[in-house]
Amino acid sequence: MEKSLILVKPDGVDRGLTGTILSRLEGLGLKLTAIKMLKVEKELAEKHYAVHRDKPFFNDLVYYITSSPIVAAVFEGSDAVSRIRKACGATDPAQAEKGTIRGDFGLDIGRNTIHASDSPETGSAEVETFFKPEDICDYSRIT
Ligand code: UDP
Ligand code: MG
Repeated sequence: MEKSLILVKPDGVDRGLTGTILSRLEGLGLKLTAIKMLKVEKELAEKHYAVHRDKPFFNDLVYYITSSPIVAAVFEGSDAVSRIRKACGATDPAQAEKGTIRGDFGLDIGRNTIHASDSPETGSAEVETFFKPEDICDYSRIT
């Protein structure tokens, strides 16, 4: 089944939006199969954002995601990746539609409240970056 890694970024956790965000994703009928709160170490942040290593915003991105605790979770389901990306909205909250997580809660392009995997392949890889295989729980999601 398709997997997506989501991260409730520091601005989401700090403003008490974790439950609201997870609730929106659960509301899509997707199955929550792993969850934890953590303060991300620099090494983990650099691995997670390695694709952006050469971008001008890379250092700020790593600084921000390591600045305060986040919540990492795995959601599984058919078309989980694209359905979650749609629910998140555009990367820049100023461009994101109302009704999307970033459109409703994002503060700016850095503090855009949520990370979500951008393809099934990155979904699987990102889940492995944040979770051990034994952390993933299986059960029947009743829709
Ligand atoms: N980002 C940024 N400045 C930019 C583009 C992206 O600070 O010009 C940040 C933003 O927080 C984004 C993250 O870098 O969520 C990763 O960028 P990506 O293009 O992968 O966007 P996403 O997949 O999160 O929509
Ligand atoms: Mg991305």
